[in-house]
Amino acid sequence: MVDEFIPFSLPEICDEDISSVVEVLRSGWLTTGAKSKEFEDRFCKYIGVPHAVAVNSCTAALHLALEALGIKEGDEVIVPTMTFTATAEVVSYLKATPVLVDCQPDTFNIDFEKIEAKITRKTKAIIAVHLAGLPVEIDPIKEICKRHDLKLIEDSAHALPAFYKGRSIGTLGDIGCFSFYPTKTITTGEGGMAVTTKREWHDRMRLMSLHGISRDAWNRFAKEGTWSYEVIEPGFKYNITDIASALGVSQLAKAGRFWHRRKEIVERYRSALGDNESFILPKAPSHVEHSWHLFIVKLNLSALKIDRATFINDMKEQGIGTSVHYIPLHMHPCYKNHFSVKENDFPVASEIFPTIVSFPLYTKMTDIQVDRVIHVAQKISKDFRR
Ligand SMILES: *Cc1c(COP(=O)(O)O)cnc(C)c1O
Repeated sequence: MVDEFIPFSLPEICDEDISSVVEVLRSGWLTTGAKSKEFEDRFCKYIGVPHAVAVNSCTAALHLALEALGIKEGDEVIVPTMTFTATAEVVSYLKATPVLVDCQPDTFNIDFEKIEAKITRKTKAIIAVHLAGLPVEIDPIKEICKRHDLKLIEDSAHALPAFYKGRSIGTLGDIGCFSFYPTKTITTGEGGMAVTTKREWHDRMRLMSLHGISRDAWNRFAKEGTWSYEVIEPGFKYNITDIASALGVSQLAKAGRFWHRRKEIVERYRSALGDNESFILPKAPSHVEHSWHLFIVKLNLSALKIDRATFINDMKEQGIGTSVHYIPLHMHPCYKNHFSVKENDFPVASEIFPTIVSFPLYTKMTDIQVDRVIHVAQKISKDFRR
């Protein structure tokens, strides 16, 4: 019997997820409504933050966050090169410029020691990405923000849940943004959430998330009722549906169990592959808790006769899906052409990039499947040992 292909990622959708979505479908109210409010309230409680705006993607949340913090044309925003393009593209939505910074060699997170060299009079904010779910070393970054009067956004797309010195990721800066894309730690199909402790930023994001429409002014004073509204600003169309929020509520209830399972899988990888000199495994320092959204392995190419592309291909041929997180932004034509990014400005990311491969890590994986990934990886590393 041939073993079934183990995909790189799969969401875990259970019967209760399905029935909660069906309930919304039967209710007659499909767009933003009571379920979305419930999702926001539960998310606030889970993260430990007073305000949340649920939207239709993390990209939307990041855009709203920058807008609420006052980023505008001509400003510069510091962004790591080692991230998904969404983190940086949102800066350009506001006609501001993303300024890329290299990563640390061991964590792949932004190298805070290289941030200040990139700060100019135009710099207004930093977007910190907790890559793979490993919390960024946030204290020194907050120091930099304080020294230069910069706003701090946490791209927490990978980091639900994760903790830095006991504090929830997403609450450490000014605004935190989460993703519920199907590969992320919980999913709503498509969806995102912006959280903040500041009422004013919440209100601005809420307003801009739905056409800049405010019902408050009218509802307070007018007797016209629910049909009346005022357009305050040219806003966006970023609201989440109650269909997605129903999935969000039911997935969030399982986030703890999901996290526990991912940690078990990581332990299994670690104890089996930890001694193999071909693989350098990710780890978390003791003052943080990793969400383990991704398990990014660094191939020790000096111990192997094959390159990363061949490794990935061999894994695939033997039934294992893997991926790469990420092709650094400075290597993409977009950032080279539009933002005049210099390729040799990012020596660490450039050196790491050809060595990284993300192993499958999701709650639906069985121990037998994890063991098969381990077995195949071990076999390839043995067959091609230098
Ligand atoms: C997935 C992801 C996003 C965007 O999330 P969407 O919900 O798909 O918009 C942003 N930043 C990072 C680091 C991501 O991985």
